[in-house]
Amino acid sequence: MQDLNLCANDKRGQSQLEAGVNLAGWDEVTQGTVLTSFVGDASGIANKKAEERAYSDFNSYTASVASWRVQKPVFNRDICIDCQNCWVWCPDSSILSRDKQMLGIDYDHCKGCEVCVEVCPTNPKSLLMFNEHADLEESLAAWPEKKKKEKK
Ligand code: SF4
Ligand code: SF4
Repeated sequence: MQDLNLCANDKRGQSQLEAGVNLAGWDEVTQGTVLTSFVGDASGIANKKAEERAYSDFNSYTASVASWRVQKPVFNRDICIDCQNCWVWCPDSSILSRDKQMLGIDYDHCKGCEVCVEVCPTNPKSLLMFNEHADLEESLAAWPEKKKKEKK
């Protein structure tokens, strides 16, 4: 029996462990296995809101990886140009956007990978990483100034 504490934060596989089912280790999974992100037909899924989608047990929306985060992205509305780059690139669909307007971060699912910060094109960036426990207001107050272009 594996240590249930390993799964305590995100409940991944916990029901199987509690039922006494032995899960395969990472080196025992058959190569080529496909873990589907959605239950049933996923056509048109991009047009549905997150709460309307039938996520499978394997999707990081269901099995949240937010507990991995040691730093969090903070969003600054005053600088954002709603380009949607962060929404496109986020690997965990954790950018909240409605009608092409960036609304913020879904901290219940964001794993703190920093991809959204990397792809943000504004100067200064509209998303920056801060310590996981940083106060949002204080983070916004510490935002850097616009960088001047260096003369060549
Ligand atoms: S850090 Fe940004 S890109 Fe990474 S999971 Fe969180 S919101 Fe998505
Ligand atoms: S990438 Fe930056 S500017 Fe573009 S929508 Fe996201 S936060 Fe706003």
